[in-house]
Amino acid sequence: MSSPQYTSPTLLNSLRTLGKSLHLAWQHLYKSLGPRLRKLPITDSTYFRTGPTTLQYPREQLPVPTRGRYRLHNDIDDCIVCDKCAQACPVDCIEIEAIKAPSPLGQTSNGMTKRLAATRFDIDLAKCCFCGLCTTVCPTQCLTMTPEYDYSVFDWAEHKVHFAAMAPEEHTAHK
Ligand code: SF4
Ligand code: SF4
Repeated sequence: MSSPQYTSPTLLNSLRTLGKSLHLAWQHLYKSLGPRLRKLPITDSTYFRTGPTTLQYPREQLPVPTRGRYRLHNDIDDCIVCDKCAQACPVDCIEIEAIKAPSPLGQTSNGMTKRLAATRFDIDLAKCCFCGLCTTVCPTQCLTMTPEYDYSVFDWAEHKVHFAAMAPEEHTAHK
């Protein structure tokens, strides 16, 4: 049986095909690197039109919507410990304990008098469904949704965040 013979037109065709495919690959590569080579910010409206579809996370991050619902934060200095947020929470992930102060503790930034001190203000973000109801009922707007969405932890218990300003020993003393 004789070995296949390659004629020069076949070789030329192969080289031409190889050249075309390399050219095409280079075009796509250039397109995908374009926004990065031109140092376009990810917020530029043309970033994904001619560029990459995969983000180099965490180096690149999409801006989050201003009304997005992400990690909760309580500015405890403005909290009057009214318990409204805990009552509104559909999954009971807010735990609040308070003590009455002998005299007013000051005022919140919207002028409400603080009469209670929080000995515990915990939110279990592992249970939270980010419905945002707690933030809507808060009379002092101290409970807010932040833009932070990446808060992976190694230990599940770390998802319980503590906002009370009191130290654990003070907390136990008031129980
Ligand atoms: S966002 Fe919803 S689920 Fe999460 S703590 Fe607030 S009320 Fe509860
Ligand atoms: S509703 Fe607002 S002020 Fe009232 S306990 Fe919750 S966070 Fe504090």
